Amino acid sequence: MKVFSASLASLASLASLAFPLEAQQIRVLLDYIDKPQFTLEVPDGGLIVTREEGELEVSSSSLLEVDEGMIFAAKDGRHFLWKGKPYRGRLEIKKMPDGRLGLVNSLEMEDYLYGVLPSEMDTKTWPIETLKAQAVVSRSYAYYMIGVDPMAPFNVGTKTSHQVYFGAAFEDSRAKEAVDSTSGEVLRDAGGAIMPGYFHSCCGGRTEDARELWSGAASQAVLGVSDIGACKKSPHYSWVTSLPVDDLENALKQLGYDFQPPIRGFLIGEFTRSGRVVSLKVIAQDGRLTVPTDKLRLVLGPNWIKSTKLTQIKSQGGRYLIYGNGWGHGAGLCQWGAKGMAERSINYKKILKRYFPKATIGNFENNGR
Ligand SMILES: [Zn+2]
Repeated sequence: MKVFSASLASLASLASLAFPLEAQQIRVLLDYIDKPQFTLEVPDGGLIVTREEGELEVSSSSLLEVDEGMIFAAKDGRHFLWKGKPYRGRLEIKKMPDGRLGLVNSLEMEDYLYGVLPSEMDTKTWPIETLKAQAVVSRSYAYYMIGVDPMAPFNVGTKTSHQVYFGAAFEDSRAKEAVDSTSGEVLRDAGGAIMPGYFHSCCGGRTEDARELWSGAASQAVLGVSDIGACKKSPHYSWVTSLPVDDLENALKQLGYDFQPPIRGFLIGEFTRSGRVVSLKVIAQDGRLTVPTDKLRLVLGPNWIKSTKLTQIKSQGGRYLIYGNGWGHGAGLCQWGAKGMAERSINYKKILKRYFPKATIGNFENNGR
């Protein structure tokens, strides 16, 4: 076991090391590094560590003292193991905007997508045209995020707030087929810009205008559409959850509302064009509160309010029964709808046209033209 360190004084020279992010690579923030030492494994192989003094090969499972600017690559293109999961590409220690050090996985875009697809969909059983649609959408989202700030220390995280990525852990042949057969394809808007490829699990019948959810010019082109009942087979199409009264009252207090319990009822009103509920009127003993539905969903969690497409909330035996349609924010591609369409023999290009009516499918490399 060896311990290596790079001094803080060397940061300036480390910054000049020639490891620019190439156009077709993406940086994924895997973790924050809160301890000065950590362990990286490369099964049956060596680890190449690049730091101020140059490259050094160390044995697998070395205990490494980390510092900003260090880069780790597995010998002979092998995968790393980080917290038991394999990763392609290389790992870099970068300073995050909040000053902490982050462990960033930098890898080829198409390799990244091999890992995203099985993390986001059932690549073993879902139709290949659905997987292809997801590949194009995920690629568009990733390139869009790179374009937002090309010099950022990372472009995306690993969770649903971006798109889920478990590294190479669940890669399979069908995910690779979907990525390879759509190689480089992205969604472009009328002006030729890469569109943010938003997606969600189930729209509940109609997708949301992205501008209802996010500001910025890019969201304007992602419009809400009907998906003609394609996602009706989803277990999330129509749902009801049963939430203890105390949990809901505590969530409202957490959001800063001051009211006299118990709550007497809820009124649902102010809908977006797609039928999602902008805010709820909560009737307490001492008056009414107006509560933004997305904020309540965030505090309670998506297992209780699966989407803001709510239809009814009623009290029953010390609990609230919450009824709604769909799962997720609702903008862009509806994954269950894309499955339903592929099962009706609709190909991925037509699926994408349904969910992104303003988009054309272009190639990343030739700028889509
Ligand atoms: Zn749908």
